[in-house]
Amino acid sequence: MEDTDYEELISALTPQESGGGVSSYRNTVSVACPACETPFDDLVVIHEDETSLELSRMLDICVSRHDNDVLLFTHRH
Ligand SMILES: [Zn+2]
Repeated sequence: MEDTDYEELISALTPQESGGGVSSYRNTVSVACPACETPFDDLVVIHEDETSLELSRMLDICVSRHDNDVLLFTHRH
């Protein structure tokens, strides 16, 4: 993902908790997922090389990258 696309995306989203090398954002304005082009629920940005996520529910996840960060776009069933 290009810097300009990433900045535009982040600016549209609502920041949620961050810490542990992970930042999450809520998509309250129905931004389209860059991978599947349907609106996603949350964006999780992973800043570290390795991390673990505890998912509380079944999610479909689309993946993108920005610089060294991994971007997870979650879709609830
Ligand atoms: Zn998607």
